[in-house]
Amino acid sequence: MDLKSNHASPVLTDPAPINKSRLGIHSSLLPFSQQAASLSSTKYMTIPRKKPGKLDDVRSNGWLDAMKSSSPPRKKLLMDFNIDVASDDADFAYCSWMLKYPSALNFFEQIANYAQNKKIAMFLDYDGVLSPIVDDPDRALLSNDMRCAVRNVAKYFPTAIISGRSRDKVYDLVGLTELYYAGSHGMDIMGPLSHTVSDDHANCIKSNDEQGKEVNLFQPAREFLPLIDEVFRTLVENTKGIKGAKVENHKFCASVHYRNVDEKKWPIIAQCVHDVLKDYPRLRLTHGRKVLEVRPVIDWNKGKAVEFVLESLGLSNRNDVLPLYIGDDRTDEDAFKVLREGNRGYGILVSSVPKETNAFYSLRNPEEVMKFLNSLVAWKEQGGAKCIV
Ligand SMILES: [Mg+2]
Repeated sequence: MDLKSNHASPVLTDPAPINKSRLGIHSSLLPFSQQAASLSSTKYMTIPRKKPGKLDDVRSNGWLDAMKSSSPPRKKLLMDFNIDVASDDADFAYCSWMLKYPSALNFFEQIANYAQNKKIAMFLDYDGVLSPIVDDPDRALLSNDMRCAVRNVAKYFPTAIISGRSRDKVYDLVGLTELYYAGSHGMDIMGPLSHTVSDDHANCIKSNDEQGKEVNLFQPAREFLPLIDEVFRTLVENTKGIKGAKVENHKFCASVHYRNVDEKKWPIIAQCVHDVLKDYPRLRLTHGRKVLEVRPVIDWNKGKAVEFVLESLGLSNRNDVLPLYIGDDRTDEDAFKVLREGNRGYGILVSSVPKETNAFYSLRNPEEVMKFLNSLVAWKEQGGAKCIV
């Protein structure tokens, strides 16, 4: 990703098109079907962009395009793959895409075989991965079955939840004390004290969780807390006249959701956030799924959080470790990229439509995620040798 620096508030641009030679992927980590994928041409994988207009700030700097492309409708995604949108063709498009990003369930045996004699470290995004995407983010609850699956996985493998939500919120939603939690896109990491943690780091402090248990906290953007709080309150005030807009304070970032805002009003909400950010050069904007996110300008993201947690667990720079990261969002691409570029492990994208990604594998939805987690547990319980899907 590149930071555009020619605006008052820098904006994260889309990741560059996936290119295996650029990424330098080790062939042993590549699913064989990726090597023979028929959709490897960038002709199919590059999402076309409209030329920026000159109507106003948000149009000319590409915000509106980014808002639309961050949550494109199914129809547009299929058209980007040069596929008409009849249902048969939609299935064909998805199946073709899966040649490049195979189902982690169908390729479970291959993953399990690669994981033999290795220590798996599991990283999970929350929204769209453990819980379905819903209109009201407060109602994205974890089912008991999924909680059970995550608890079982954590019995055998160190497990971290890495979310854009505040750490407190995602901790409340998941409710399992044995996990690592990285909220605010990894800017607020809490790990059990029992694990080896890089507590010599300047931003690592000891604290207590809600049950009073001692935990390690790592907060690389701690100095930004008052600024985020201030911008959150300004955003709430300035968007209160826009029907459907919802602003959330994620402690180290503020989110403006436009999922429930009429698309005709998107320019208004974009302009509003743009105007607020003009006064905060130390903050930047990123695009999530129908959400504008305001974050500190620091070199930190979900990928860095994965590296930090691995290091904390004493699992970095080791050949006998296999990190798996399951995510569905554009912000998860940073983590997919870290695993892919370092030949370290597998990113698994959760998507029911073809998408450009740095992940290796795919799953369609949270139900398939749960199946995959249960399969890992069953495989481990059988000695880690025989695969059951
Ligand atoms: Mg997500």
